Amino acid sequence: MIAVSMQEGAVVLDPFSVRMVLGAVILTLIVLSCVSSRRLRPPFTVWWRASLCLFFAGNCAFLLNGTSLLAWASPPGKALVVAGAFSVWAGARKLRDRKVSAWHLAPAPLITYVASLTDTAESSIWSGGLVYLGLTAAGLGMSGAELWFAKSTHSRATKFLALTAALTSLYYLGRAITFVLEGPDGNSFRTYFGYAPAAVVHLILLVSLSFTMNALSNNHLITKLRERAERDHLTGLLNRGAFLGLAAKELAGPASQRGGALILADLDYFKAVNDEHGHAAGDAALCAFAEACTASVRSTDLVGRYGGEEFILFLPGATQQRAEAIASEISHRLSAMEDPDGLPFPTVSYGVTSTGIEAPDLDFMIKVADAALYSAKAQGRNRVVGADPVEISLPEFHQGP
Ligand code: GH3
Ligand code: MG
Ligand code: MG
Repeated sequence: MIAVSMQEGAVVLDPFSVRMVLGAVILTLIVLSCVSSRRLRPPFTVWWRASLCLFFAGNCAFLLNGTSLLAWASPPGKALVVAGAFSVWAGARKLRDRKVSAWHLAPAPLITYVASLTDTAESSIWSGGLVYLGLTAAGLGMSGAELWFAKSTHSRATKFLALTAALTSLYYLGRAITFVLEGPDGNSFRTYFGYAPAAVVHLILLVSLSFTMNALSNNHLITKLRERAERDHLTGLLNRGAFLGLAAKELAGPASQRGGALILADLDYFKAVNDEHGHAAGDAALCAFAEACTASVRSTDLVGRYGGEEFILFLPGATQQRAEAIASEISHRLSAMEDPDGLPFPTVSYGVTSTGIEAPDLDFMIKVADAALYSAKAQGRNRVVGADPVEISLPEFHQGP
């Protein structure tokens, strides 16, 4: 049970009990984060879990306040809490794919440790107090700023954590200022900035941190699984199902107004590449072709592996002429690329079609492009054949540039 004492009319909670409660909650958060751990764990969770452990260890050290071990426990306790604040910052930097090094993290805890040790460590729990409070405020303030600017694709919990970290930082700043103005025994300091209100603020911060870590880990997992479900493993392009879904959505949405073009591509005599140079050479050619495709189109265009050595592209807003020029550009890029073993990459045949005045459905466009591709093969391969825009039922073919 938490012991309570009355001092000058104010209710003061006993520090040992408050720290025991804080320690128990942090330990629970650590255990929960470990048991719910996943294999696909994003890097920032390592830092945030480390910060929970550092806050826990710091809190444990503070349990020795008032004992003969004070001089041993207080300087490392403060250094651990400051290291915890900077670990929150390190995790926030990782979340934004920014670098974290020992030079970023080591100075603040070291300075705190030395400041406390060289002050009145053997007699006062507040030895080096100003440095401790100031650096904790700095670490948490930087965490708040870093988290605030994290990508909006991350969970909204990040914004909440940013606010919690910023408010905790302001609270520590308030502690530091009051500490300077009236010292640790001052009335305001004891009432508003003593161990009990500070423990409550810490609890809010660490519960938010833990919740955000879990929410972001789930988001990360969902993103990874979606990528695996939608991407072709070898080339990294959209797989057939994902391409068809996205292209149909485009045709029903924006492309229904401005139209678009569809390209089917098939590598020529690809079986011979496998037979003569092995499957690894075939795989390298597929990857090179995928690279040539993505380098030739806009980021809003859709590129997919239709199956085997067949690829499909949907270019929203592109005209027939533009799509045929892009197909030629892809072949040009591929022929300029270097195979790791010095082998020439195969040539490619293309069937191209585009929407007419009225956007037809995707299946019909694919059928028309496929017929044009068949014609390209029949005409001797290594060429672009365009089918007239698909507003007529029988496509007429013409050879592109
Ligand atoms: P064409 O010019 O008429 O298209 O002839 P082709 O040899 O390219 O066509 P065919 O359909 O006869 O052969 C396609 C080959 O593509 C057969 C298959 O083994 C190979 N293939 C399909 N998927 C992969 C893959 O992921 N990696 C490798 N290395 N080969 C693949
Ligand atoms: Mg084929
Ligand atoms: Mg082929």
